[in-house]
Order: sequence, then structure tokens, then C-alpha cells
Amino acid sequence: KLTQAMTYKWLQLFVQDIQKNQAHLNELDTAIGDGDHGTNMVRGMEQVSKILSQSQDQKVSDLLKQVAFALISKVGGASGPLYGTAFLEMSKYLQNQDDDLASVINAGALGIKRRGQVNGGEKTMYDIWQPVAADLQQQQFNQANLDSHLQATLNLEATKGRASYLGERSQGHLDPGAQSSTILFTDLLQVLN
Ligand code: ADP
Ligand code: MG
Ligand code: MG
Repeated sequence: KLTQAMTYKWLQLFVQDIQKNQAHLNELDTAIGDGDHGTNMVRGMEQVSKILSQSQDQKVSDLLKQVAFALISKVGGASGPLYGTAFLEMSKYLQNQDDDLASVINAGALGIKRRGQVNGGEKTMYDIWQPVAADLQQQQFNQANLDSHLQATLNLEATKGRASYLGERSQGHLDPGAQSSTILFTDLLQVLN
């Protein structure tokens, strides 16, 4: 279950860890994109940080909706609308369905799939979101599995986004969006433990 306290803590950690990893995310994106993924995400996190400090008692679905709008309007690039859609779909799921964590994350994953027109194995953030949703459903969500999902993207050839312009030369590099999503779910593990 995704509680209010967990969600605030999760987002707080995400803001901190994206800021800590800004340079690394930019480096990954320099290798197979345009070098701005860390900068883009940090711009979004500044707004998320404001939202978190403005009120401490929002309903989880309202909080996730505000975060979604922050990401859509501030992150930009390809990743902003994709993260934004994921958070918006998680918010909507909580509004209309239940607060089962696996189902909430799955709703986010499906949002990325639809918005990005993406499938598994295309070397994107979806290659983290989809298996994490599956792991949660099977009670197998842990750091070892999360790390192995990220490593599994290393030798994939990108077929979506800027990295796809490199074709085979995208192999052997980690996808920046898969890395930032791994940070998001590492932080989720922290609040679950
Ligand atoms: P941009 O490529 O516009 O500079 P970013 O660098 O912020 O945007 O984000 C790049 C990341 O977005 C990629 O690493 C990848 O994970 C993700 N991405 C790009 N296109 C898609 C897509 N169609 N579906 C899913 N994820 C995508
Ligand atoms: Mg980029
Ligand atoms: Mg860009």
C-alpha cells in the first residue's frame, strides 16, 4: 500500500538523489543523447521540492498529480512528458481504484508505454518500470532484481528517443532514463524497508 507518509518520503529522496546524480545522468546522456538528462530532471526536482514543502498533508493522489504537472512543465525533453504521464496515471489509479502499490506502479508503466509508444527491450525507462511493476506483483521487488533490470538494458540497441539515432552504437551504454528510473525505485525500496 502506498501511504501518504511513504509518498512524501519517497519523493523527498528522489529529489535528493537526482540532485546528487545530476552529473552522472548528464554523462550517460552525453554518450548516447544530448547530455541534458540530469539537468532536465534537476529542473523538475526543484519544482517538486517546492510542492513538498508547501503542504505536508495532501492526499497521495493529489500530491502525485501536482508532481506530474511539475515534471511535464519543468523537465522538458522526451523524459518530462513520459515521467509526467507516469505520475498522472498513478494519481488517476489511486483516485479511481485502490492503493495497491504494484497496481499503482503498473498504471505508471502503462502510461509510459502508451505515451512513448514503447515496448520492452527498446532501451528506455520503460525497461525499468515494467519489470518493477511485475516484481511488485510477484513480491520480488528488491535491490538485486532492480540492479539486474538496469544491467539488462546495457547491451540493448536503442530503438526509441535520441539514442536510437546511434543504432548499434548505443549498445554498451546505460540508458539515462533507465538510470533515473532506477534511482526512483531504489528510493521506493528505501521507504518500504
Ligand atoms: P531528450 O532525449 O529529449 O534530451 P532526456 O535526455 O531528458 O530527453 O530523456 C531521455 C530519456 O527518455 C531516454 O534515456 C529514455 O529513457 C527516455 N525516452 C526517450 N524516448 C522514449 C520513448 N519513446 N519511450 C520511453 N522512454 C523514452
Ligand atoms: Mg537528453
Ligand atoms: Mg534534450
